[in-house]
Amino acid sequence: MPTKAFAANDATTPLSQTTIDRREPTETDVAIEIEYCGVCHSDLHFVRDEWNMTIYPCVPGHEIIGTVTAVGSKVSKYKVGDTVGVGCLVDSCRTCQSCERGLEQFCTGGNVFTYNGPDKYSGGHTFGGYSERIVADQDFVLKIPSTLDKAAAAPLLCAGITTYSPLRHWKIGPGHKVGIVGLGGLGHMGVKFAKAFGAHVVLFTTSPGKVDDGLKMGADEVVISKDEDAMAQHAGSFDFILDTVSADHDVNAYLALIKLDGTHCLVGAPENPLAVSAFSMLFPRKHLAGSLIGGLPETQEMLDFCGQHNIVCDIEMIDIEDINDAYERMLKSDVKYRFVIDMASIRK
Ligand code: NAP
Ligand code: ZN
Ligand code: ZN
Repeated sequence: MPTKAFAANDATTPLSQTTIDRREPTETDVAIEIEYCGVCHSDLHFVRDEWNMTIYPCVPGHEIIGTVTAVGSKVSKYKVGDTVGVGCLVDSCRTCQSCERGLEQFCTGGNVFTYNGPDKYSGGHTFGGYSERIVADQDFVLKIPSTLDKAAAAPLLCAGITTYSPLRHWKIGPGHKVGIVGLGGLGHMGVKFAKAFGAHVVLFTTSPGKVDDGLKMGADEVVISKDEDAMAQHAGSFDFILDTVSADHDVNAYLALIKLDGTHCLVGAPENPLAVSAFSMLFPRKHLAGSLIGGLPETQEMLDFCGQHNIVCDIEMIDIEDINDAYERMLKSDVKYRFVIDMASIRK
């Protein structure tokens, strides 16, 4: 099926319109007309090949919400007309220990990311949600609670699960002091989830203009991270800090705020390695950890939790033609707090 999409053809030229081919649905596939697609900072890292793994042409987008237009003969979970989502994964081996535990993001038998992954159907690579439609196996399609606004729910498929999963894994709840570093797409969902789980939430931001929004989203305190005195007041006091920063930053400044046996967890993936002083880790005993998106069962759990608690993302809607400008604004931390592409704009 010829499908309009926006692609990067190399690391330096802006994204532009192209036509990709989507397969006809197999017997276990769901065909989806994409209505909204969130813009993740990972899209930008990929488009500019900042992680040295991009295959061009690159059609980004892994925060996809749309309507089912066709289903294969063996599809039982979805029917035409359903509102569904696709996140960062479209397949995995389904038999390794990670897959058996519902941790498909850590599949050791070969998982397939929504874009830039190996596409066994075309022999090429997968293309993401900056496109009119997508075809995916029903097991990698998510149910979207009907109470949620579709556009504002789209970024839950990556920004939502990437912050929900580590907060759940480290069992964050009442009595915990939790820091969220960076109020961008991931960070603003980290604030909302940490608050919903009952923690005392401290937002760290470099942007004084985001303080009021951070408080409204649920932060109990906001610290301007460039203010060394304000940082020092929190020394050795955090159970857990979730670091969503997309660029070079001093992780030692946050490790100094972690208490005995506490954890600093990276989800942000800057292009360059972070420098960590051994003494930042030794005294008192600390953990430096990381987390990657979430598996399919937990992603559905997160969506259902958002449905029950009416949690969505704060979004700024754009047309697909605005995507290159949106990337520039993202690089200036000028995002409130997730760009979402109205895919009707690609059909015009
Ligand atoms: P984003 O919307 O651009 O937000 C990043 C935020 O980091 C900015 O809004 C800014 O917040 C802060 N920041 C930016 N540059 C900074 C700097 N030089 N020093 C300190 N703070 C800075 O990005 P995102 O979509 O949330 O993604 C964040 C990172 O997570 C990216 O690297 C992305 O690739 C990665 N990611 C990882 C996973 C995973 O599974 N682990 C999943 C999705 C994304 P303030 O203005 O508040 O300071
Ligand atoms: Zn993402
Ligand atoms: Zn597997």
